[in-house]
Amino acid sequence: MADDTTLLPDPRDTLQHVFGFPDFRGVQRQVVDRVLNGQSTLAVMPTGAGKSLTYQLPAVMLEGTCIVISPLIALMHDQLRSARANGVRAATLTSADADWRETMDAFRAGTLDLLYVAPERASQPQFLDFLTSAPVALFAIDEAHCVSEWGHDFRPDYRGLRPLLDSFPEVPRLALTATADHHTRGDILTQLGIPEDGLIVAGFDRPNIRYTIRHRDNPVRQIARLMEDEPGPGIVYAPTRRKVEDMAVKLAAATGRDVLPYHAGLPPEERAANQAAFVASEDMVIVATVAFGMGIDKPDVRFVAHAGIPKSIEAYYQETGRAGRDGDPSQAVMFWGAEDFAIARQRLGEMGDARQEGERKRLDALAALVETPACRRAILLRHFGEDPPEQCGNCDNCLAPPEVIDATELARKLLSAVYRTGQTFGFGHIQKVLVGMEDERVRQRGHDNLSVFGIVEREEAPLLQPLVHTLKAHGVLVQTEHNGLALGGAARAILLGEKPVSIARPPARSRSRGKRASQ
Ligand code: ADP
Ligand code: ZN
Repeated sequence: MADDTTLLPDPRDTLQHVFGFPDFRGVQRQVVDRVLNGQSTLAVMPTGAGKSLTYQLPAVMLEGTCIVISPLIALMHDQLRSARANGVRAATLTSADADWRETMDAFRAGTLDLLYVAPERASQPQFLDFLTSAPVALFAIDEAHCVSEWGHDFRPDYRGLRPLLDSFPEVPRLALTATADHHTRGDILTQLGIPEDGLIVAGFDRPNIRYTIRHRDNPVRQIARLMEDEPGPGIVYAPTRRKVEDMAVKLAAATGRDVLPYHAGLPPEERAANQAAFVASEDMVIVATVAFGMGIDKPDVRFVAHAGIPKSIEAYYQETGRAGRDGDPSQAVMFWGAEDFAIARQRLGEMGDARQEGERKRLDALAALVETPACRRAILLRHFGEDPPEQCGNCDNCLAPPEVIDATELARKLLSAVYRTGQTFGFGHIQKVLVGMEDERVRQRGHDNLSVFGIVEREEAPLLQPLVHTLKAHGVLVQTEHNGLALGGAARAILLGEKPVSIARPPARSRSRGKRASQ
């Protein structure tokens, strides 16, 4: 594609003639212009926004080869196929390739636009030597959040890239990611040596997605109801392989719809067949672990449901972002339980120190999202550094604002009771003590003599369970090994009256009645 003209043609011409798109989308043009100017850039663009084009197009226009660092072989091969389909001269250098010789020769001859490599290969000195044998036009670093320990997917190999990049000071660097919070962004800039004014962030709003987040009581029934409202294709994320299989069967039985499972433990043929069937279908639902969705291009997914909490706000955004790429109204519905957070916080304890802090912040941010009585979209967008309006009009809380009540006093009573009973009893026992219900165990332990015995009024009692959910989500209450409750996090600040606690008023006919929970 490169010829000898010194003046570059208009990038829009290349966009239309090589890629067949009438125009750039969003920030694509801004990113491309910087790259063509030789300026290093970090582009933060949501999934589906068209990141690949921002290096593929300059790769076609510029003399020399664009080296693309990408973390997964499967991802590289997807990219390779789509680049080649556009007539871009592309190759990969991975352990899965047999045509190394040809690829290396093509690079040396200057007839490659794009060369994809994994970071572990790119960071080796031999690779640097190899690159000096022909002109390099650009380094594109895909999934750049992998370079940061703050990111959710830190890969030490990404750290090894810096010497390579620094060996080519005149070659611009283009780092790309869909998932970077404020902290991670700064870290990517530093780690990859990109100037601060090289940061370009695309708008993250997906206005056609309606966000809903609810407590989970009976996930099969809750998701089946959603499926009745949304007859189009949908993705249900479940936390484990076993739950994936179980739910697929139950949802099919409950709704009579086509439902298939997808997880890494299925035989590869079955997995591929299920994925292909889903992509081709106009009404199928796939129940999957988070392994599903990477590199899938299905524009008409009408809903994404989570049967448990995702790993982080970034993961939530990315997973729900698979809904409604065609711009038509779509839903993202999460069903969460306090135990999801308890399990996640338990895992925190098993992590190395360096990662713990980042993970804890991620969980806190996620807890704030699920617990908020305010606009979900506003929280999401603020998380990605935007300054959204207070209300979006298209999330559960905007459509039916929950009543917020101040629960600071109640929280102090609850935490005192947990403390005074020795931080070993479960919720049932604590509740009895607080409302002043004497039973065998309460008397035996002498808990009827505590100052906290019976200090909660009958009318307030129904708020205790949701309050425990909230406090657990924020790590103020933690589950002990034997299902007891103990104090953690900001418990002390709350007890000292330094930190207020509020909760959304639970729906009138909710859990404690049992029989007919209303969602
Ligand atoms: P990302 O990597 O940001 O998730 P991709 O690079 O895979 O996104 O692009 C997502 C989809 O958008 C692809 O199908 C791609 O062909 C398409 N696309 C990219 N740029 C444009 C554009 N300017 N106009 C129309 N479609 C585009
Ligand atoms: Zn809203």
